[in-house]
Amino acid sequence: MSIFQELEANSHEQVIICSGPKAGLRAIIAIHDTTLGPALGGTRMWTYASDEDALRDALRLSRGMTYKAAVAGLNLGGGKAVILGDPRKDKTEILFRMYGRFIEGLAGRYITAEDVGTSVRDMEWVRMETRYVTGIDKALGGSGDPSPVTALGVYYGMKACAKKLTGNDSLSGKSVIVQGAGNVGSYLCSHLASEGVKIFLTDIDRERVKAVSDRTGAEYVDPEKIYDVGADIFAPCAMGAVVNDDTLPRLKVQIIAGGANNQLADEEKHGRMLVERGILYAPDYAINAGGLINVANELEGYSQERALARAEGIYATILEIFSIAEAEGVPSYEASRKLAEDRMAKIGHLKKFFAGRAGPHDRNGDGHHRN
Ligand code: NAD
Repeated sequence: MSIFQELEANSHEQVIICSGPKAGLRAIIAIHDTTLGPALGGTRMWTYASDEDALRDALRLSRGMTYKAAVAGLNLGGGKAVILGDPRKDKTEILFRMYGRFIEGLAGRYITAEDVGTSVRDMEWVRMETRYVTGIDKALGGSGDPSPVTALGVYYGMKACAKKLTGNDSLSGKSVIVQGAGNVGSYLCSHLASEGVKIFLTDIDRERVKAVSDRTGAEYVDPEKIYDVGADIFAPCAMGAVVNDDTLPRLKVQIIAGGANNQLADEEKHGRMLVERGILYAPDYAINAGGLINVANELEGYSQERALARAEGIYATILEIFSIAEAEGVPSYEASRKLAEDRMAKIGHLKKFFAGRAGPHDRNGDGHHRN
């Protein structure tokens, strides 16, 4: 496929190739869709096998961000960037500052944040050259660690699933399998424990499990056996593709609701199989949007209270997705996609309708939106 065919296949707006040989910078910024607002998405640093692989990753991830922001009700579009290199040995101040210059050159069409392979420190270098960066340290006025907000959103999304199945959103007396005792998993366990949930917890890192179990009474399960445990809810909070041909037939749960990205190995195939098995699935990018909600909040002047309140709204979003799924007879992942596309179409229409006329955000009085 030619590069334009690649872009046209999923309606990407723009790709920026950033080259700074003296700084060792090779980066690709992909802007998928800016209908709702500037494209926001993290910068991944990875040793890609080829330039094509890097481009494909940027295209795939930026598209995912468009849908995540749209479903979360944010005024943001979807973007993502990849830096080609080894995050363990290729990081330098000059590399990230040069990368920051490229972002500044986009004048706000793309806003970055940390992602796999990049850290808060790297984003501070980027910030020396551009305002268009989020997810920086609290000490610098940023939003800091997004995990508490992500976990709260997952908790409320889980309650919405219970409401859909039983008519009652209480989790008290229910059992939940939490896969991953990391940042999101551990905060999630605290919410669950406070509501009297029986928690089964797994992690390849036994120390992490111990720390969470001591606090919440969670019962340890071997990572390999986690898919065979009988419980009400499965909450993947570790890695992606955990719902696949091997694990799906083994699951003995009624609900899947967790924080991990890309939980279904094959969205269409496994999304349908879950429907056939009568397992209610909260689409991952809708239920784990708390992290994005947190950084989006930073753009308005960060308040954790506001970010947490906004993450509670994931409850209503998940219920809306299930209503669409029921009304249209489609799996939840498809309903979620529809919700996002509907919102983009409606807000896109609104923007076109008022283009050239003074609106509430038109601070300059000349009919042009500056954000
Ligand atoms: P983390 O690295 O803090 O925690 C992940 C945990 O999973 C680690 O403790 C790790 O040991 C464990 N793990 C790895 N492989 C495992 C396996 N095979 N079995 C059991 N446990 C395993 O990461 P996190 O920030 O808690 O994020 C967890 C997931 O949620 C990731 O998929 C991430 O992309 C997603 N997510 C996180 C946020 C956020 O705010 N942190 C936001 C959105 C999505």
